[in-house]
Amino acid sequence: MPTILVTGANRGIGLEFAKQYASDGWSVIGTAREPDSAEELKAIGAVEILQLDVADADSVDAFADALGDRPVDLFINNAGVYGSDDLDRDDWLKTFEINTIAPTLLAERLKPNVAAGDQKKMAVISSMMGSIGDGNGSNAIIYRSSKAAVNAAWKALSNRYRDDGIAVAILHPGWVQTDMGGPNATIDPETSVSGMRAVLDGLSVRSTGRFTAYDGSQLPW
Ligand code: NDP
Repeated sequence: MPTILVTGANRGIGLEFAKQYASDGWSVIGTAREPDSAEELKAIGAVEILQLDVADADSVDAFADALGDRPVDLFINNAGVYGSDDLDRDDWLKTFEINTIAPTLLAERLKPNVAAGDQKKMAVISSMMGSIGDGNGSNAIIYRSSKAAVNAAWKALSNRYRDDGIAVAILHPGWVQTDMGGPNATIDPETSVSGMRAVLDGLSVRSTGRFTAYDGSQLPW
């Protein structure tokens, strides 16, 4: 069966990815900052849990060592933070580190693993709030800019990896009922992840580098 690696798999959207792919019989590798307390992830059973704090260089090194040269069919960069609504410099830098820089460096680092997989797919969970074309919001400048920047970085990655046969998706999960999305969000994780899985099923180098919502619609950059 294929192997999926998903970051931030201990709760929210990442946990739902782990659940759904495990239930379809995939080999699932889920990362958590604190594996010992990742109870819901452990409860799935057939999931390998690796420690990873994407903002900690030592943790990233240990994670890459633990993964080794294992092939990964689908690599999903899901871990993310919302950051502050205030324009705080340190929080902006931290949010960029987690939402923008870490996913992009991880993609480069794990490119050999994905190239060794059969499916050769990577995705980043971005956000419609990173869309400049749809930019009517006035809040969350830190979050919006971090997601706009990861869109730009991953669009370039899609071009960079095309000749290697690796397909890249930039996904908007919808407004999802998680700790980040809150209780008023419009869809549950199951709906969001089922939709994104359908998009990922259809992903190929022909459709690489698109900004796509969980319902398959194309979004303005
Ligand atoms: P949650 O806040 O529920 O979960 C976030 C996950 O990211 C947790 O597993 C968390 O781990 C992990 N994480 C945070 N910081 C780090 C770090 N430094 N290293 C490793 N893991 C980290 O969020 P969601 O599940 O809602 O969001 C998942 C993704 O979807 C994010 O990228 C988010 O921006 C995006 N998104 C979500 C939307 C929504 O409506 N929910 C809408 C649009 C986009 P820990 O438990 O240790 O904190």
